[in-house]
Amino acid sequence: MIAATQNKGKLKELRQITEKYGQQLISMAEAGLGDLDIEETGTTFAENSYIKAHTVAQLTGKPCIADDTGLCVDALDGAPGIHSARYSGVHGDDQANRNKLLKDLQDVPMEQRTAHFTCCITLCWPDGRTLVAEGVCPGHIAAEEQGEGGFGYDKLFVPDGYSESFAALGVDVKNKIGHRARALARLEELLDAEN
Ligand code: IMP
Repeated sequence: MIAATQNKGKLKELRQITEKYGQQLISMAEAGLGDLDIEETGTTFAENSYIKAHTVAQLTGKPCIADDTGLCVDALDGAPGIHSARYSGVHGDDQANRNKLLKDLQDVPMEQRTAHFTCCITLCWPDGRTLVAEGVCPGHIAAEEQGEGGFGYDKLFVPDGYSESFAALGVDVKNKIGHRARALARLEELLDAEN
């Protein structure tokens, strides 16, 4: 199965989590699509993950999963949401995105900094069959960056039930309680129900 992402942090997590389901994920580079840039023209996480998974399944003739994730901050009316990758204006600049988030929340007290990650994972087969699974992880936005691990917004996101960011907590916690792990667990349930 191919993972339709050029994001190394995401690929690493998808691999770590799917290993326990006995799945070997092939990267875009290994599938000969290392340069492929798929435009995310959807207006929802589900649409964007479908666009990526469907495109790669059609190009390769192999089943493919794609993940579209965003951080939704309550005090910002759900922003950055589906615009999470280009929140600062530059696509994929994680540091600039985190800086903008901290700036936008500078006057917001801690109890109002609630947020959640939503992760939508779509599995497309080349014959057009499709499964869609969603995982949500609630938490809040820290006052400053914490920790060195993770990627994207992980240094700023503190999941409910913990007092440190995903970046500080490390992969074992994130891959157990995080949005991506939850979406993949849901995908497994959907696959089991099909078989
Ligand atoms: P996309 O799903 O690749 O469009 O990613 C959207 C944005 O969210 C990018 O800026 C990613 O770095 C960020 N992002 C995606 N997944 C995670 C995650 O698990 N933790 C933190 N940031 C993430």
